[in-house]
Amino acid sequence: MIRTIKVMLCPNNRQRTKLFACAGLARFAYNWALSYEQGNYELGNKFICDYDLRKIFTVLKSEKEYQWLNDYSNNISKQAIKDAVKAYQNFFKGIAEFPRFKSRRKSKPSFYADTSKIEFTQTHVRLEKLTTSRKRNKQKFNLVKLAEPNKIPTGADIKYSNPRITFDGLNWWISVGIECEESTEQPTNQGIGIDIGIKDLAICSDTAVYPNINKTTKVRKLNKKKRRLQRRISKKYSKNKKGECYCKTRNIVKSEKKLLKITHRLTNIRHNYLHQTTSEIVSRKPKFIVLEDLNVKDMMKNQHLAKAVQEQCFYEFYRQIQYKCNWNHIAFITADRFYPSSKLCSCCGYVKKDLKLSERIYICPECHNTIDRDFQASVNLMRYGLTA
Ligand SMILES: [Zn+2]
Repeated sequence: MIRTIKVMLCPNNRQRTKLFACAGLARFAYNWALSYEQGNYELGNKFICDYDLRKIFTVLKSEKEYQWLNDYSNNISKQAIKDAVKAYQNFFKGIAEFPRFKSRRKSKPSFYADTSKIEFTQTHVRLEKLTTSRKRNKQKFNLVKLAEPNKIPTGADIKYSNPRITFDGLNWWISVGIECEESTEQPTNQGIGIDIGIKDLAICSDTAVYPNINKTTKVRKLNKKKRRLQRRISKKYSKNKKGECYCKTRNIVKSEKKLLKITHRLTNIRHNYLHQTTSEIVSRKPKFIVLEDLNVKDMMKNQHLAKAVQEQCFYEFYRQIQYKCNWNHIAFITADRFYPSSKLCSCCGYVKKDLKLSERIYICPECHNTIDRDFQASVNLMRYGLTA
C-alpha cells in the first residue's frame, strides 16, 4: 500500500528562483512534446512513443539555442514528456479532453524529482542539480529545508515513489509516495450510517454528531475578512482602469497575495476538520460505513444552499472516508440515490413523501414516532448497510 505525504519546503531565495526555473523547464518540455506530437499527427505520421520523443529532445540539447537545458536535471524533462504523451494518449482513448498547453500565467508550477536521485534526511531533501557546480562546498545548495522535520521517513530500505514538487501560489511543497505495510487488524464493531448535511457536517447512527465548522466564530471572522478584502481589490481594479483594460498595480498584487493567504487558511481549517472527523469515525472500527449517494451538482442548483454546500466540501469528505475505509478493511457502501433515507420511518417503515426540508423533527403519521430527522436518516442508512 502506498501512502502519500506532503510537506512544505523552506527554500532560500536562490533556491526559490531555481525551483521556479525547474518548473519552467517542465512546462517547456511538456509543451514541446505536445506540439511535436500534434505536428506529427497533422503530417499523417504514426504516433511517437515517449521513449523516442525523449531521444529527439536529447539531441535538441546539443543545439546552441537550447544550451540552457543542460543546466537542469534531465529527469525533469523526462517526466514532463512522459506526462504529455500520456495526456495525449488519454485523449485518443477517449478518457480525457485534448490536453492543453501549459501557460506561464495560468498553469500551476510543478515538476518531478527522480526517485533514485532524491534523498531525504530528517530535516532536508536533496534535489538533483539545483546547482550546476560540482564543487563540494556548493553541493549544499541542493539541500532544501523541510518545514516539518521527521515527517517523511528516512532510511536506506524505504522506497519513494513519484516525488512531485509544486507551488500553490504561496509556498513550495513536496509530495512523495511511501510504501508501507497494510494493517492486518479487522474491524469488529457495528456498522455506522452517516447522514451528511448542512446544519451539522455528519450525524452518525451511533449518536455521534459533528457540527458544521463554518458556523464557528473563527471561520466566520475569516470569511468576513476575505469578503472585505475581495471588495477592496475589486474597487482598486476599477479605480486603476485604463480605458477598457484593467491594470494590475503593485498594491493589487500585494492585496491579492493577502487574499490568497486567507483562502488557503480557510481551506486548511476545513480540510483539517474533515480529516479529524473522518479519522475519528474510522478509528471506531465499524464493519462498514454507509453514506448516501449525494448529488452535489443537484444541490448546487438551489441558490440558497449552494454556498453552504460548497463550504462543507462534501466531495472531500467522501474521498477521505473512502480511502481511510480502504486502509482499514472497512466496507464502504453508498446507498442508492432513490433510497428514501430521510423520508422513511425507522419504526414502522412508513414513507412520508411530502417531507419538507424545514421539518427538522420527523413525526410519523402512522405510528406517531417522533425523532430527529437527521438521526433517523443515519439509522436508516445503517440498516441499508445491513441488508446490502
Ligand atoms: Zn412510523
